[in-house]
Amino acid sequence: MSKLSDRINNLAESQTLAMAKKSRELQAQGKDIISLSIGEPDFDTPQFIKDAAKAAIDNNITRYSPVAGYLDLRKAISEKFKRDNHLTYTPEQIIVSTGAKQSIANIILSLVNPGEEVIVPIPYWVSYIETIKLAEGVPVTISTSVESNFKISPEQLKKAITPKTKMIVFSTPCNPSGSVYNKEELKALAEVIIQFPDLYIISDEIYEYINFIGKHESIAQFDFIYDRVITVNGMSKGFAMTGWRIGYIGAPLWIAQACEKMQGQFTSGTSSISQMAALEAAKADPSVTVEMRDAFKKRRDLVLAALNEIPGLKTNTPDGAFYIFFDISSYFGKSYNTYTIKNSHDLSMFLLEEGNIALVSGDAFGDDNCIRFSYAAAEKTLIEAVKRIKESLAKLN
Ligand code: PMP
Ligand code: GLU
Repeated sequence: MSKLSDRINNLAESQTLAMAKKSRELQAQGKDIISLSIGEPDFDTPQFIKDAAKAAIDNNITRYSPVAGYLDLRKAISEKFKRDNHLTYTPEQIIVSTGAKQSIANIILSLVNPGEEVIVPIPYWVSYIETIKLAEGVPVTISTSVESNFKISPEQLKKAITPKTKMIVFSTPCNPSGSVYNKEELKALAEVIIQFPDLYIISDEIYEYINFIGKHESIAQFDFIYDRVITVNGMSKGFAMTGWRIGYIGAPLWIAQACEKMQGQFTSGTSSISQMAALEAAKADPSVTVEMRDAFKKRRDLVLAALNEIPGLKTNTPDGAFYIFFDISSYFGKSYNTYTIKNSHDLSMFLLEEGNIALVSGDAFGDDNCIRFSYAAAEKTLIEAVKRIKESLAKLN
């Protein structure tokens, strides 16, 4: 009998983090691995944010913070929601957490009862499914493909809803597809959801600032659905602050209070120093993130053009985030030496071992036909990465 709980035995390891760990191990053995597995900006955190953290230490802001986050920070986030998203969330409706990952766990653990269904469009971010399972909820997926630009339709959503459905969780811009829902598309989805009482939406908007088509749209902007939406965001991606661990939600008050209670038992308030840094990020004009966004767009164009020259790959044009999720299913059934490619996992292992390039297989995101390429790296590295993919794939026949 296992000494570990069924809970942990049934939990899958985060595949993004597992691949990043594997790449680090191979690099430590002296292998020249290019790792495009983990999704994090390669830029440095802006100086004014780092300065705020240094000042926080010098000013001894180093004690436990309120569980929900400092009031000043929640006020600044409240202003940010107004400024960027035209959303009204009072500071009491905002909970700051140790990353958006914790925000999402707080919500799912607070709302989902055993046996309740949570709709998750494919491709999804790796941690949604495992967190739902941890809450003993039942993930219900909706398929998409490169042809539909990896977006779901209102009809698909309606079909997936049953009397047991509790919520839907999705990201826009999407990790891993880079797809961005526009205002009309979000409204159409909201119009389906509002027909069902007690159906909630987790709208994960952590890539808000990495959007190449202009304005970011939040589903909570429609008054008729506002009470059913939990808007998730954070500092990790837009401000290159992955290590600082700051995420937050804007939510109906009763949900915010539940998340505060949950967090009070797990972690308490997040790092006081990171919160003081986040305060400056929240107050900053979003234009400080534009340079990073433009660099990502340039890299997207570069990588997309290069990938499209490789025979047998199918891509969409991602409108945001920093991933390309391309279809590699035409390589299934092909072989080289001891390798036979049956699925996306086989292909990612082949690319890692034969090509020294670490990507994340699509099965981790629910779509086994695809593989995820994170282009959050220097242009030179990206060019070399695509060359390695091309040369490795050419060996398969
Ligand atoms: N949501 C999505 C879609 C993500 O890609 C990430 C990145 N890890 C997160 C949430 C969590 O971000 P963090 O915990 O760093 O705020
Ligand atoms: N969101 C990033 C990714 O998808 C970071 C890794 C993680 O937290 O899973 O790669």
